[in-house]
Amino acid sequence: MHLKRIAAIAAAFTLSLTMAACSGGGAGSTSGSTSGSTAAAGGAATKGDLIGVAMPTKSSERWINDGNNVKSQLEALGYKVDLQYAEDDIPTQVNQIDTMITKGAKVLIIASIDGTALTSQLEQAHSNGIKVIAYDRLIRNSANVDYYTTFDNFKVGVQQATSLLTGLGILDASGKDTGKTGPLNIELFAGSPDDNNATFFYNGAMSILKPYIDKKVLVVKSGQTDFKTIATLRWDPATAQSRMENLLTSTYADGSKVAGVLSPYDGLSIGILGALKGVGYGTASQPYPVVTGQDAEAASVKSIIKGEQYSTIYKDTRELAKVTVAMTDAILKGQEPKVTDTKTYDNGVKVVPSYLLESQIITKDNYKKVLVDGGYYTEAQLS
Ligand code: BGC
Repeated sequence: MHLKRIAAIAAAFTLSLTMAACSGGGAGSTSGSTSGSTAAAGGAATKGDLIGVAMPTKSSERWINDGNNVKSQLEALGYKVDLQYAEDDIPTQVNQIDTMITKGAKVLIIASIDGTALTSQLEQAHSNGIKVIAYDRLIRNSANVDYYTTFDNFKVGVQQATSLLTGLGILDASGKDTGKTGPLNIELFAGSPDDNNATFFYNGAMSILKPYIDKKVLVVKSGQTDFKTIATLRWDPATAQSRMENLLTSTYADGSKVAGVLSPYDGLSIGILGALKGVGYGTASQPYPVVTGQDAEAASVKSIIKGEQYSTIYKDTRELAKVTVAMTDAILKGQEPKVTDTKTYDNGVKVVPSYLLESQIITKDNYKKVLVDGGYYTEAQLS
């Protein structure tokens, strides 16, 4: 299935490269077009057209890889790229997008910080005939988001919760319930409330965990289960660390133990593990609880190898870049970009046509096969 999908994407990519080669615009030619929307409408894409790529932050490895992958693949097709990072500051991202519009970008690829903060920029983009692709994170409250490329975010949450249950011994390796009755103490963390993905991860995870919480196999000892309470603004590791420290003081000072923590992102997992270490977890007599994650960042994969973090979710950002670049190229040639979902991602104004990729659970057992053999990391990068 996975191979088939890669083959299909590769075929689409080759096709678009071939079409680019046939389209006549020489690699050295620059865009003489200042007429905005006509490029997309008339299929008169010119090599050298400017593409604006707005990424949220360099504080997390995944976005650095995303930015680099998108940039190099667009440049390989002859496009010019304005790649910007906003260090998780909303006004900075807004200014960067304004500048991209002023510079005459033909397509904007945006991984937003706050998915609700870009409405007027997108209005401006739309009136200049600029197409907008929401990258990984949905941009909300705007009719001017043309496409969305991402992973199946609900499923990411399902996978996070499933790996938590597997780590706790409630499910076996094949996903079958082992009959373990607990009760096992867990705590829950969610992502940034202004990131649309965070709700999808949470809902996906809770769809798996809730029946076990209802049966009291799992106990959220702090009682903190609703999204708003457990959310972590801007996905900040320090915020997660201090919340975990507070939970340990408020809820576990009686000597009871945490068996598992649902963490939606590797950076948060590092903060959470730090808090646990601070009160004595991480020894042979008191091992770390089962802690999940997301993004398969190198530091967390190393932690998984060492037996600290239990799992992460691997999202191949190379594939996300490929799909987004193929979509950009299609748009500029006046073609219909391929999408795989036209139902799931309602941004409050419209359902945005989306291309969804698949993610995968990573543990100590399969990191080598998936991440090293798959070429995402070399063995040396993980040692
Ligand atoms: C992405 C995740 C990432 C998180 C924090 C989300 O929007 O989908 O992959 O872990 O942001 O950067």
